[in-house]
Amino acid sequence: MSRIMMNKIQVFTVVALLQLQVSLAVCNKAGRADYSNSSPVELLQAYIQINTTTYNDLSDAVEFWRQLAALADVPINVYEIVEGFPIVVLKWAGTDSSQHSIMLNSHMDVVPAALEDGWTYDPFSGHIDENNFIYGRGTQDMKSVSIQYYTALRRLKENNVTLLRDVYMTLMPDEEVGAEAGMIPFLQSKEFAEMNVGIELDEGSSFPLPVIAVFYQDKVVWQIKVDCHGVSAHGSTFPATNDTATGKCRNVMNKFFEFRDEQYELAKVAPPNDAGGYTSININKINGGTANNVIPSLISLTIDIRLGTTVNEVQMDAKIRQIIAESGSNITFSYILKNPQSPATIVNASNPYWNAVNKAADELGVGLLATIPPGSTDARHVRNAGYPALGLSPMPNTELLLHSVNERLGVTTFLNGIDLYEKIIYYLATIPAEDTAEDGTEYLKVTAR
Ligand SMILES: [Zn+2]
Repeated sequence: MSRIMMNKIQVFTVVALLQLQVSLAVCNKAGRADYSNSSPVELLQAYIQINTTTYNDLSDAVEFWRQLAALADVPINVYEIVEGFPIVVLKWAGTDSSQHSIMLNSHMDVVPAALEDGWTYDPFSGHIDENNFIYGRGTQDMKSVSIQYYTALRRLKENNVTLLRDVYMTLMPDEEVGAEAGMIPFLQSKEFAEMNVGIELDEGSSFPLPVIAVFYQDKVVWQIKVDCHGVSAHGSTFPATNDTATGKCRNVMNKFFEFRDEQYELAKVAPPNDAGGYTSININKINGGTANNVIPSLISLTIDIRLGTTVNEVQMDAKIRQIIAESGSNITFSYILKNPQSPATIVNASNPYWNAVNKAADELGVGLLATIPPGSTDARHVRNAGYPALGLSPMPNTELLLHSVNERLGVTTFLNGIDLYEKIIYYLATIPAEDTAEDGTEYLKVTAR
């Protein structure tokens, strides 16, 4: 497609988007959007229209939350531990702030999306189609959940429902890229300590069955870079295979594929709610070479590993070192990312927070399925810091479209989620003081052997 054609389409899209925005939120005299009469669906559409792709300027999103906090008449704080990465916190005070609080976490950032990728509607339009699906990046991951938390809390407040414990909504800037500027430093901050958190709720995922998956443990991420150094020479020469960078690289790949095949067999028989029983391994980048007729001196591999939840870290590290050592000389490796194993939140009747979530779901006739997902969320950092966390996004009977083209969510599913959170928040925030342990690690269990 020509550049001019592209530009025309872009202009058309921008104009269409502007018209849609105007129709969704009336602008006040100062030119700021006014959400005072917006329905929850309109709020979600407006939030999707703010393009919060990771590393974008999040000022508009912060402004959006400032306006919503003002409408709900609750305090809002914005912290920038790393410049350009705001962390937003809204506080809904309970009657006894000395009790452990409820932290409802979500992330503002979304993964990239573009109409050209094959979307039926602009991914930042929030378009609702004739089947009552709202389209857009963030409809599943996870702007829907942020608006559900907010609407549920607002309803409780407007109905003068008394909550014992403080409830915080926290909104992170960089979950999609590892939380180095968001959750990780936030957990070390005095602001977090002052929240006195008892339980954190975080994101889950859509689920193709009529149940809501509740994540109680995350698989941790290890990413390694392997550099295979070999002889560099004219493309017409013929050095021994194991002296070349590509030959060494082949050995490394073969050994990792052997390991992968073994784990793949375990994954094939794993139940849909337990990805913790296997380690996933994917070689995701192969880089190197200078010219078509030069034998390269360096080939690099990037490998993404998600550890099974019972895997011993020391043994896994030793296994990687052994693979490298056995693949040849002059092969080096380094960790790009090496998360420590994260404990599991206990999901049985001994955990009052789990009981509260269950009671809410029961009352609405919604089934919950305790799940260890294949991927990971910010909740792993929270559990590592010693706080129980449960991840759920109320999207039962919903196609898995997180990070996908045409990410969308049924409007009814979205609205049902608000009802569920209203009950979950109520039951969590009214757990009697004496029912919760002082130390959150009581609700955590280490599973790595
Ligand atoms: Zn997410």
